[in-house]
Amino acid sequence: MTFVVLTLFPELCAAVLGESILRRAADRGIIRTDLRGLRQYSQDRHRRVDDYPFGGGGGMVMTAQPLKAAVDAVVQDYGKKPHTIYLSPKGRVFNQQIAIELLQHDSLLFLCGHYEGVDQRAIDLLVDEELSLGDFVLTGGELPALCILDAVARMVPGVLSTEQSFQNESIYSGLLEYPHYTRPALFEGLEVPAVLREGNHAEIEKWRRRESLRITAQRRPDLLQAVRLTEEERRFLREQGLCDDG
Ligand code: SAM
Repeated sequence: MTFVVLTLFPELCAAVLGESILRRAADRGIIRTDLRGLRQYSQDRHRRVDDYPFGGGGGMVMTAQPLKAAVDAVVQDYGKKPHTIYLSPKGRVFNQQIAIELLQHDSLLFLCGHYEGVDQRAIDLLVDEELSLGDFVLTGGELPALCILDAVARMVPGVLSTEQSFQNESIYSGLLEYPHYTRPALFEGLEVPAVLREGNHAEIEKWRRRESLRITAQRRPDLLQAVRLTEEERRFLREQGLCDDG
């Protein structure tokens, strides 16, 4: 899967993508990342990419010309236009379900805004959807783009090893994940739950499922609505005072 990022700060993105799991996935050819600095596409003789807003007001606006030229170059290079996302606090709020939807595309293009944002005509001409990372405002679209890229890329087959599989993780599984422990068994007076050290895999699975249910019921009862619970699991939650459905 190919991820193209159009940004004023390609080095910022390269620093993140040049480490760890996504770096290894790119080295192995499982994903491709293509970071393009927008200034190189500016026709302005000083390579400017922003200008004052029509109508006045504070802040600068990213001009449409370098954005259009950059997307045209991507289309030229790949022979098609990737599914194009503008990162914006005005967009649909990103979540795991949207990450799964995005996985259906073979290429994604992230358009990172800065300053007050980009000329609306660039959005109208180029963008397939606007996504927000949440109800807060950041200085630029790079961090949201990298978050979304990471969330999608780690689901591309082969990026994670089978042991790291994402299907059992929080949210994707429908529940929040159980707690993890590693050595030592005793740390600062806190002990790893005995069941995890006794090697009975059926009991470990049962403990993990119950912990997932308990944490989800406490922190995200909304998620629990969609989960099919056995009678035993309902009883467990009632005993914990976390389920009041009789
Ligand atoms: N003036 C804009 C507004 O009020 O909607 C905010 C512009 S923001 C300072 C600059 C850029 O950061 C945006 O163009 C967008 O690309 C990015 N950005 C900021 N917050 C974001 C969020 N919550 N989700 C996604 N992108 C965001």
